[in-house]
Amino acid sequence: MAIYLDHAATSPLRPEVLEAMLPYLAEHHGNPSSIHASGRRARQGLDESREIIAQLIGAKPREIVFTAGGTEADNLAIKGVAWAASAKGRHVITSSVEHKAVMNTCAILSRQGFQITYLPVDRYGRVDPAELEAAITERTTLVSIMAANNEVGTLQPVAEIGAICRERKVVFHTDAVQAAAFGPPAPDAWQATLISLSAHKLGGPKGIGALYVRQGTPMVAQTNGGAQERQRRAGTENVAAAVGFAAAMQLAYGESPPNALRDWLLDALAALPGVAVTGHPTERLANSASVVIDGIEGGDLVAALDLEGVEASTGSACTTGSVEPSHVLLAIGIDEARAHGSLRLTLGRGTTQADLDRTVAIVEACVERLRASAPSMVGSA
Ligand code: PLP
Repeated sequence: MAIYLDHAATSPLRPEVLEAMLPYLAEHHGNPSSIHASGRRARQGLDESREIIAQLIGAKPREIVFTAGGTEADNLAIKGVAWAASAKGRHVITSSVEHKAVMNTCAILSRQGFQITYLPVDRYGRVDPAELEAAITERTTLVSIMAANNEVGTLQPVAEIGAICRERKVVFHTDAVQAAAFGPPAPDAWQATLISLSAHKLGGPKGIGALYVRQGTPMVAQTNGGAQERQRRAGTENVAAAVGFAAAMQLAYGESPPNALRDWLLDALAALPGVAVTGHPTERLANSASVVIDGIEGGDLVAALDLEGVEASTGSACTTGSVEPSHVLLAIGIDEARAHGSLRLTLGRGTTQADLDRTVAIVEACVERLRASAPSMVGSA
């Protein structure tokens, strides 16, 4: 069996979650909008899931909007609020290390006449709250800063950012798709108006997520149709997935996160020659170890690891034939050549020390082999 160390890409569906979902894929087949008994049974599953999720994050059930995942939650948050507040102003602030779901949504708004400010980050990938404060103008309506970065794992100072946004009366959206995998997001402590979540990062099914929307936040629906989700997201709800999402969250938040194994892995990788940790040394996701490795292409290493039974990621988007250097690594000041050598290993609940011992040995051997086969690259990065 392969050692799966790509939980930030997606985490396996947990058996208990599948068990909870199955009745809603079979006998409880109703449409939750139908008034007959089958519909009411499906509605009950949906309502209960919403209540569980709301309770786990300290929100009201009506503040949870189910979506088809984190990407849709980001789109709804950003476009929905930017357009709802567009009479007041058309300025949105985000960071230079956001996920594509935020980056590309902001790019669309920019083409539609909005001004977008991309805040820089320090060498660990953190936004400076003072710089955020200075960037807010009379026309700013929305700040979107992720809670944790998917590539380098860095946590943002969300509570400080939230306090500034509240003070300046600007809506604060945070993408907590990664951050929520090992602990509940906290709308009140973070003073967040909107929080994006996704089930498949925490042992739930793919294709379901949620947007926490603080009560009273004006928002323009981005999917039009029926009146589902209090008219904020039309379409027949994915009841089985919502049930799975709630079950996965309940399980995830009852367990301790793998920080100790992560620290061991970071130290072991950093001890290899030509390897440097990326992201913050301590303020980082509980399961994320990311590095840049001199003299190799991250894509080649991931392919070599795969052949040896270790499933990992470069942490950045690859397109066939070419690997674009990650915008996150460039934003934290890593030069283009080194950025090509990125490797991200993200742990899951089942990851063991033995898995990591084996992984580090395999990484070391693969890196040596790749460097030997491309001698011209050694030292050039
Ligand atoms: N935001 C972040 C930070 C992510 O890591 C991801 C998934 O990789 C997403 C958004 C998109 O979530 P989904 O895959 O549920 O659309």
